[in-house]
Amino acid sequence: MKHYDALVIGAGPAGVAAALYLARFGMRLAMAEKLAPGGLLLQTFEIENYPGFPQGVKGYELADSLAAHLEPYDNITRIHDEITEFIVEGDSKRLLAGGEWISASAVIIASGVQYRKLGLPNEEKLLGRGISHCALCDGNFFKDQPVAVVGGGNSAVEETLHLAKIVSHVHLIHRRDEFRAAPLYLSRLKALPNVSLRSSTVITSLHGEQQLEGLTLKDLHKGTEEFLSLNGLFIFVGFEPAAPVLPPDLKRDRGGFIETDTEMRTNLPGVFAAGDIRSKLCRQVVTAVGDGATAANSAYTYLEQQHG
Ligand SMILES: Cc1cc2nc3c(=O)[nH]c(=O)nc-3n(C[C@H](O)[C@H](O)[C@H](O)COP(=O)(O)OP(=O)(O)OC[C@H]3O[C@@H](n4cnc5c(N)ncnc54)[C@H](O)[C@@H]3O)c2cc1C
Repeated sequence: MKHYDALVIGAGPAGVAAALYLARFGMRLAMAEKLAPGGLLLQTFEIENYPGFPQGVKGYELADSLAAHLEPYDNITRIHDEITEFIVEGDSKRLLAGGEWISASAVIIASGVQYRKLGLPNEEKLLGRGISHCALCDGNFFKDQPVAVVGGGNSAVEETLHLAKIVSHVHLIHRRDEFRAAPLYLSRLKALPNVSLRSSTVITSLHGEQQLEGLTLKDLHKGTEEFLSLNGLFIFVGFEPAAPVLPPDLKRDRGGFIETDTEMRTNLPGVFAAGDIRSKLCRQVVTAVGDGATAANSAYTYLEQQHG
């Protein structure tokens, strides 16, 4: 079984920052990523609030720069696979990636979040057949057609702004009276002629067998229902932790996010968490990167104490 000083799960902003710091400390480490380096950045059109980029930076450009930053370090082994098992027995940590067991003295979990579903019948079946969680990836399939977006936070509004440039009309559906998104985004949205805001409205059914054909909407104030005919629905109703099979003793909050102290230490010695997977309020690139650096520092201190 291959052994590393440290293993980082996930190559999003948190994982890359952690790997960079560990590599610079001279650790022998592995970083496992099941998709591509960059994490959610690859699904984000423009990052406008990353310090040092006054003109904003495209998500994929920042993802490429993160990946490039790790290239010179030959003490990082890249594992292009998903971690599907993670077992902690005392000081020993064993992880399964692509059918191969690996061990590490310290593990940093930076596996981020995944999109929450509406929980409607047909939803799973129609995912990729009209239903999407990524306007940047799938928006062009609906060029000059009407679509709906569901959600009331920043992600829903940002994605609506992006879609409005491509599609004929966006119905933005939100179950509450008010949208929670930042006022700056909302004012941009209200200025667009091809966006309708539909508050106090929920989707009660999804129609279509092979492809999404329409939605039934319910007005929560009036109690009335209507059918909306369209082929595209983008769902942004929050996130849940993208938790690989985590050790059962790992302390998590009610939403399943990993609890840490301010140094990113979990309740299990030698196991650290960083970025969106952590129980915290501000899930952003800049906080993920900060968490990653802190987790690496704590992992390094832990390893020093272990090995003297
Ligand atoms: C639409 C949208 C717009 C956003 N806009 C902004 C913005 O403008 N500004 C901003 O600061 N933030 C923004 N964010 C938030 C930002 O993208 C996240 O806070 C940040 O990406 C979190 O980084 P992370 O490394 O914790 O997780 P992620 O970026 O989610 O990366 C986690 C990585 O772990 C991998 N992974 C998961 N499970 C496993 C496993 N079992 N094995 C191996 N690999 C695994 C995933 O494939 C992924 O690559 C936005 C997010 C979205 C969705």
